[in-house]
Amino acid sequence: MNPVLQVLDIKKHFPVKGGLFGTTVGQVYAVDGVSFHIDRGETLSLVGESGCGKSTVGKAVLRLFPLTAGQVVLDGTRIDDMSAGALRPLRRKIQVVFQDPFSSLNPRMKVRDILAEPITNFGLARDAADVDRRVAELMDKVRLPRDAVNRWPHEFSGGQRQRICIARALAAEPDLIVCDEAVSALDVSVKAQIVNLLQDLQSELGLAMLFISHDLAIVEHMTHRVAVMYLGRIVEVAKKRDLFATPRHPYTEALLSAVPVMEPGAARDRMILKGDVPSPIRPPPGCHFHTRCPYAFDRCRKEEPKLVATGDGHLAACHLHDLPEAENPLLNKAAPMASRAA
Ligand code: SF4
Repeated sequence: MNPVLQVLDIKKHFPVKGGLFGTTVGQVYAVDGVSFHIDRGETLSLVGESGCGKSTVGKAVLRLFPLTAGQVVLDGTRIDDMSAGALRPLRRKIQVVFQDPFSSLNPRMKVRDILAEPITNFGLARDAADVDRRVAELMDKVRLPRDAVNRWPHEFSGGQRQRICIARALAAEPDLIVCDEAVSALDVSVKAQIVNLLQDLQSELGLAMLFISHDLAIVEHMTHRVAVMYLGRIVEVAKKRDLFATPRHPYTEALLSAVPVMEPGAARDRMILKGDVPSPIRPPPGCHFHTRCPYAFDRCRKEEPKLVATGDGHLAACHLHDLPEAENPLLNKAAPMASRAA
């Protein structure tokens, strides 16, 4: 069976304009050769610091701009090169939930109309009664009272609005939902409720989900696999359990070291990275991470590491994995994450 989504070596470079005549003086390498797939019923989380390119990948999947290179394949059909007209019937299959539930909903539409819009636009209902039935079922799915359909968006809390955004995404009966920092703007307790809701809906409906987040603590609770991005590239991909237990890239190790461990007695050493993320206009040569990596050696400054298998479906882009196992510092630790893997 085809994956629901295949992203094949995509690149998105934005021109930098400058000078008196606004000529192109450089490129922002926002996404620079990213590949992954998502199966039916699977969540892949795309994580990394702000500016690493993860939201640009989400927008590329949603076809919000043309790619510089690469392909996006949805249910076996390449969509990145389709005309707007050819793409229209496929738009239904990919829906999105954005970060800000306040600006995502039209303040002049009642909830009923917000949810009915995709149903009618995509011709999913037989008649008006069928639209009403579907809208009522969507409210049940996101655990909001049915009679709330007659209210306006401003009458809801942030968490309730995000439930409406999720219901609107589900209204189109998609195969894939892109959640772009979908819980980042919510209070901690509401975050947990929305994460639980997304998990329940996914297993109930068999959806594929691309969950874009900077928050590994949230990701840990809701994903099947994780892809870690740094400066426009994926540096590690693994099943959640493997990535949290045995990170195979120094950047992942640093990100995880900042995630609190809940189990009593479990702890990990905090790894503080030096410096800031370099500019995507002039990424460092070789391994993009070498300017901040505590393990960097000569080769890292000259040669770009490829994303290669380091175990059961576990991929990492780091020259350390070419060293003998006994000399690889990533493989010779007191397994500080082991308590998380259970
Ligand atoms: Fe660090 Fe070198 Fe590995 Fe890059 S390739 S993450 S600089 S050790």
